[in-house]
Amino acid sequence: MRSDVFRQISKRREANKKYLSDHAKQIQKLIDHRFTELIDKESELYKRPMEYICKSFPEEAESVSKLNIYSTRGSAIEYCLETSGAGGLFSFATNDIFVSFDSPEYSELINILAETDEVLCHEMLHAVSRFRCGADISRKNTTNEEDFAYGQMVPYMREKGMTDKEIARKALMGYCMTRHMAERDYFAEMGFDLKKMTRDNVASAWSQIRRKFANELKEGSFKAAMQFIAHFGEKKAERFESRFLALEF
Ligand SMILES: [Zn+2]
Repeated sequence: MRSDVFRQISKRREANKKYLSDHAKQIQKLIDHRFTELIDKESELYKRPMEYICKSFPEEAESVSKLNIYSTRGSAIEYCLETSGAGGLFSFATNDIFVSFDSPEYSELINILAETDEVLCHEMLHAVSRFRCGADISRKNTTNEEDFAYGQMVPYMREKGMTDKEIARKALMGYCMTRHMAERDYFAEMGFDLKKMTRDNVASAWSQIRRKFANELKEGSFKAAMQFIAHFGEKKAERFESRFLALEF
């Protein structure tokens, strides 16, 4: 019994170690990529989000300010990390931040149009969370993690002079589309049974849904984004500690 438990624990440790070393290699590959360059910390692109972090999260700001921050292309992130649709990245394992200058479009329906400084702010917020809560690579609760980073982008964007409606349209509709879709099951409405579908089937069903329900998806995601702002984008006093308690890493 005991030895089984130990075997399981050591198996998990080995898997984590393997994940970490693979991930570190991918990150190094991205750092070495010909499109990747260190960002100048005297640049406006860097200063604005860093000032926001200093003001809003003074305890973590110094650690965040020491990180290496790179600019690269979306295609380089996708190639090196074997991922898709990444406009930016914070590695919880190596503490490097990457932002791309050519954020890929989320879809023809809902574009992610965040500016590079907004993407950088988002990734810095992940770093804040990492320094506050530690690096748990299993990250069971990625939803809370993203809710935190997207939610705390809202005051930053307001300070740039944007209204909540503009913020919802510009930065949050893509993210909030899944929230909207949790409330309305378009797959079922079209007669699809997700449990019985292959990946290719799902992709083709999804493109049918996007065509048929383009307006509903847009309106629903906008509404979900406005609700998200009302819930997660509130002013400072009441927000931080309860947010981190809710993260439960
Ligand atoms: Zn994120």
